[in-house]
Amino acid sequence: MSVYLPQVIHCPYCQTLIQIDAPECPACRLSYPRTSALVGALPRLNPMVADTTGHLRGADVNRLKKQILKIQRRFPQLVLQVVMHRFSSEHPFSMHAFWLFNAAAIAGEGKRGRKNHALMVVIDPFRMDSAIVPGYGLEPLLRPDALNHLLELSGPAFESKNWEMGLNLLLDGLEGLLESVSIVNEGVKYGENEF
Ligand SMILES: [Zn+2]
Repeated sequence: MSVYLPQVIHCPYCQTLIQIDAPECPACRLSYPRTSALVGALPRLNPMVADTTGHLRGADVNRLKKQILKIQRRFPQLVLQVVMHRFSSEHPFSMHAFWLFNAAAIAGEGKRGRKNHALMVVIDPFRMDSAIVPGYGLEPLLRPDALNHLLELSGPAFESKNWEMGLNLLLDGLEGLLESVSIVNEGVKYGENEF
């Protein structure tokens, strides 16, 4: 299976295109250590569904965990984490989401870079912001426009503060998206074999 791997990503702070392995953004000098100094301590995250804000009821958390387990059974390399947390409004939301994804290392310490098949859904119910952060291993499969589409689908539920419903829709959409890209990849594989 050959997958196109992007060599560049957008800086989460200033959106400049930077090399994946760059230690810092040449435009704004954002780096992981510098971001850590800016945003402070890592919140304590419960596995799979972490809500530090108390917006989700226990039953909601259990339902969402079941949904995540079902998706992870279908896609065993995938590690999914939902986070609801209040972030400081001083910094761009994408920077908080990027930093949290890296700091939490939900894929496990050995799974950095292209071995990272983790995906984090980050929601701030106070800022009314949401983001989906895929690990580098998933980035080539999950295009930003497809991920934005998932956020748009769940947007109305989030806006009416129905967090459980929004997350349920988002995870459903994500499962469908993963299913469609896994079929596309098989198509790529067959296509290559013909050459
Ligand atoms: Zn930058």
